[in-house]
Amino acid sequence: MTNDPIYLDNQATTPLAPEVFDVMVPWLRDNFGNPHSAHLPGRKAAAAVEVARDQVAGLLPKGGEVLFTGSATEAINLGFGVVHALKAAGRDKIIVLDSEHAAVRDTALSYEAYGFMVERHPIGPDGIVSLEHLSEAIDDRTALVAAMLVNNEIGVIQPVEAIAELAHQYDALMLCDVVQGYGRVAIPDNVDMAAISAHKIYGPKAIGALWVREGIGLPPLIHGGGQEQGIRSGTLSPALCAGFGKAAALCADRHNSDAAHIQALADKARSCFADWTINGSMDHRYPGNLNIRRDGVDVGRLMSDVRGVAFSAGSACASGSGRPSHVLAALGLETGQIKSSIRLGFGRYNSLEDVEMASQYINEAAEAQGI
Ligand code: PLP
Repeated sequence: MTNDPIYLDNQATTPLAPEVFDVMVPWLRDNFGNPHSAHLPGRKAAAAVEVARDQVAGLLPKGGEVLFTGSATEAINLGFGVVHALKAAGRDKIIVLDSEHAAVRDTALSYEAYGFMVERHPIGPDGIVSLEHLSEAIDDRTALVAAMLVNNEIGVIQPVEAIAELAHQYDALMLCDVVQGYGRVAIPDNVDMAAISAHKIYGPKAIGALWVREGIGLPPLIHGGGQEQGIRSGTLSPALCAGFGKAAALCADRHNSDAAHIQALADKARSCFADWTINGSMDHRYPGNLNIRRDGVDVGRLMSDVRGVAFSAGSACASGSGRPSHVLAALGLETGQIKSSIRLGFGRYNSLEDVEMASQYINEAAEAQGI
């Protein structure tokens, strides 16, 4: 019996799968070889890294390679570097959706300093981009279009395949932040780059990866010993790589049972929160993310009253900043509605009882506010 709160914040991070922990331990405790060394311990470590790379690649499109990074944020920063060469060819425009995670949004905006025009493209009231409007924005000056697969705050799924097609019509590249969809939602084959993170799939923190389609040249972001094909220097951690690989393999093996479990949790939650309104599309969404609002509820007070549930008032990055969520604002919600919204994220290790108890605590606290 523990006093830990019920964890319903699986978009912020996920618990480490026990199987992942088990494969990591020997690489932390016994096998300390540097995977870039030529001797036996080094070669053993390198082999473990390559097994992990294949496991991670197993959930990504064919025809590309996986570069390990320290996070998805780093992977996204690395991927954006592609635009430097494209600028020399007259392409000085970057388009990102207005609902992107800060890792994409702020990276894109940093390119204004290099003379790029950065457009934050609007999304509709359901959280989904209009392909018609986007097609008017993309032109032959566009270097890169970045759009996420599953939104971290509201769970809606963007039409990524169609977005990549539009980008390709003008020979622009398409980078997809698939962090919240990897291992759960199919990743379209036609994206050019995809960023992923282990800690969102029951793997360890501090490792991510960028998948890059063959033939796309990237300038290094981190210089040094020339690891990861000279693009991302720094000694890799075999423990983190092995953990990431195992987490990916588990997602593949358990795909159907995980999906059925998450759907059952989502169905239960929807019935328990029938008095709340769902933010974002009802049809195009990942069911493990439920972003809901109840007009008039003071979420700041709700969160301090409901100590028995770990949940979020927005994205983990934005919560605590005091700034209202830019994603909910992009849906056209008013500040009051944004401040009465919560995000519940269900994962592999939650039970139906977790959802029932959490909804009881949250609904009671909302009612105690007279709402
Ligand atoms: N993109 C999305 C959609 C995310 O949810 C997150 C994490 O919150 C990131 C990027 C950043 O991932 P990382 O923590 O690996 O840098």
